[in-house]
Amino acid sequence: MNIQHLNRDYFKDVLFGLSIGDALGVPFEFKNRDYFYAQPVTDMEGYGTYNQPPGTFSDDSSMAFCLAEALTHGYDVEWIANNFISWLHNRYWTAHDEVFDVGISTSKAIRQLVLKVPPVLAGGADVSDNGNGSLMRILPLIFYLRYLPETERFKKVSEVSSITHRHPISITACYYYMEFARLIMEGENKMSVYKILQSGFKDSVNKLMSDHSHLQLFDRLLNKDIHTLQSNAIESNGFVVSTLEASIWCVLTTGSFKEATLKAVNLGGDTDTTAAVTGGLAALLYGWKAIPVRWMNMLAKREDINDLAERLKATFEHHYGV
Ligand SMILES: [Mg+2]
Repeated sequence: MNIQHLNRDYFKDVLFGLSIGDALGVPFEFKNRDYFYAQPVTDMEGYGTYNQPPGTFSDDSSMAFCLAEALTHGYDVEWIANNFISWLHNRYWTAHDEVFDVGISTSKAIRQLVLKVPPVLAGGADVSDNGNGSLMRILPLIFYLRYLPETERFKKVSEVSSITHRHPISITACYYYMEFARLIMEGENKMSVYKILQSGFKDSVNKLMSDHSHLQLFDRLLNKDIHTLQSNAIESNGFVVSTLEASIWCVLTTGSFKEATLKAVNLGGDTDTTAAVTGGLAALLYGWKAIPVRWMNMLAKREDINDLAERLKATFEHHYGV
């Protein structure tokens, strides 16, 4: 382990990083890129698309908090699924006691969960069910995964993605993202992480999945150098591979939390999710203390999020041997 990582609080990095990114993007969701060329976002703002005050996080963070909350009781897909139902139906872990955004596949999957379909079978498995709805909420699972062997890591990512998104494309995107996060936590620098995955990710997926024809969709991440692309080659729509590519591109082409998350928002389109997915990794790289204090002070439920991070830390502390 790299010495600079010894005093880090990855629990706060993950929970604050993703929710701050989410909140930065919420007012601008669905705005196209031309809007931002004329007036780039440079700070936390409010209102806009959903008319929410500054610092309001959305479904991405709510569902990630639901997952984190479930993990404080150990790994149990039923518990995670029940928390997702509570979020959608009872506004559990919402910023201001309101669910103002939910993806189509997620909403369909939660209907299945209510009908008692087993969580690992609830998500859509059609090729059209590959929005970024499981990628946006999966990062807290890293605390459970990080010390497991590869086959178990993949199995758990697959199960947790499948609660809402069961197609191999979504599962592979989530697995890539989690491996990226895990390697950062091992103390690798971001470019080494990227190179390690370029050399090994394809082989692991070939080993872990019986059908891996969809891997060609990951070609730009795995075989090209995504960080060398210009912004006009980076898509920021709701497709899970686009969101993954955009977030890795934002992280690799910037040098701070603030720069990475603002770059994600300024891509336009699915601004909150691109920035949430970017923000989780950026906070793991730079630490949650690198998040502008002004933004932290605006974040809804920050005390509750801090408390959740501490409870999650207490749950997993024994893994660190401290
Ligand atoms: Mg959202």
